[in-house]
Amino acid sequence: MTAEDGRRYLDGMSGLWCVNAGYGRKELADAAARQLERLPYYPLTQSHLPAIELAEQLGEWLEGDYVVFFSNSGSEANEVAFKIARQYHLQSGNPLRTKFVARYRGYHGNSLGALAATGQAMRKLGYEPLAPGFLHVRPPDSYRRPEGMTAEAFQLLCAREIEERIVWEGEETVAGVILEPVITGGGVIVPDPLYMQEVRRICTERGVLLIVDEVICGFGRSGRKFGHHNYGVSPDIVTMAKGLTSGYLPLAATAVKRELHEAFRRTGALAHLRHINTFGGNPAACALALANLKLLERERLPQRAAELGAKLLGDLRAELASHPQVGDIRGFGLMAGIELVADRSSREPLGAAVVQAVLDRCREAGLIIGKNGDTVAGMANVLTIAPPLSSTDEDMAFLQTALLESLLPLAR
Ligand code: PMP
Repeated sequence: MTAEDGRRYLDGMSGLWCVNAGYGRKELADAAARQLERLPYYPLTQSHLPAIELAEQLGEWLEGDYVVFFSNSGSEANEVAFKIARQYHLQSGNPLRTKFVARYRGYHGNSLGALAATGQAMRKLGYEPLAPGFLHVRPPDSYRRPEGMTAEAFQLLCAREIEERIVWEGEETVAGVILEPVITGGGVIVPDPLYMQEVRRICTERGVLLIVDEVICGFGRSGRKFGHHNYGVSPDIVTMAKGLTSGYLPLAATAVKRELHEAFRRTGALAHLRHINTFGGNPAACALALANLKLLERERLPQRAAELGAKLLGDLRAELASHPQVGDIRGFGLMAGIELVADRSSREPLGAAVVQAVLDRCREAGLIIGKNGDTVAGMANVLTIAPPLSSTDEDMAFLQTALLESLLPLAR
């Protein structure tokens, strides 16, 4: 990308983790333009062909029997998920099931429900009280596990904390568990498959819906089509946005298992989902999303993400093995997190200003990277890297060099 002042940058964050197909894809712009000429708008209280076709394609991408509801942003996709979960339980004779369990450090959006589900204190400051009924448990962050505990035991402990919370709250009052496959903006926290499988077991046994927020992890970022595909778990509800259109136009979706949808087809005044939005599933955005899915498949970008991510992670681990301020290096598909610490033994998070200086040095070298943001909880110390899945080998070499050089002054 070239800035106003003529300087060139490599976007190592794909905007806000969303430009999965990369910039300058004319075929995506053309798909939207063609649709704008054919039919620019029609409400989804009825339907239109691009939305129908996209819902079918998403069903294939999800590899399960899902019904899709379109909206405008990741936050809204999650709000829709919460409303569907509550109403599903109501329709199924469990009207008390209204609460949701989420994790600290997770991010689910900016609106009062999605922000209530978010587990980052800084994002909530000044905006509380938020929607009631959202509870938080610890994230499966093995790097910060108690001393003497194996990573495996810690992962199980974290999953069982969800079960414990459900039981303590009263199983019959809990509607759902919401989680990102990998906590992304909260510091790239990658769970063990054990954790995800245990959470799935708990939800099934306790009658609680598993809502997986694929807003960042979806559409190839994880190295598979969806993040949860890496874990062999099947969610009850999946929320998506960002990479659905590679960020080119706003569009989001909430997919629910067909059995949930069936509960809304029963009779009664309150039987259907009463969530109207004017712009959700805009025809041009849907047409663009369809072209985007084709492009991601044609160029095998999920696989490319897996390959590039594995190399990046391997190289970073080798190059930074003895860097005194690098506490942990984590990755998932083409996404990496480098946790910076004051020293390796105390694991005390490196201060926000020092972390920001690393970002500034990268930018000076022409590379944009990110960091997680919870300064209130003292956790703004993870550098985040998530370039477009279409990045070339040269792009990746440039990214690695600039990143490693920006970390050198810390070690001196
Ligand atoms: N969920 C996750 C995991 C996200 O990262 C985000 C946005 N960063 C959202 C939901 C909210 O999406 P939006 O900003 O489109 O509302």
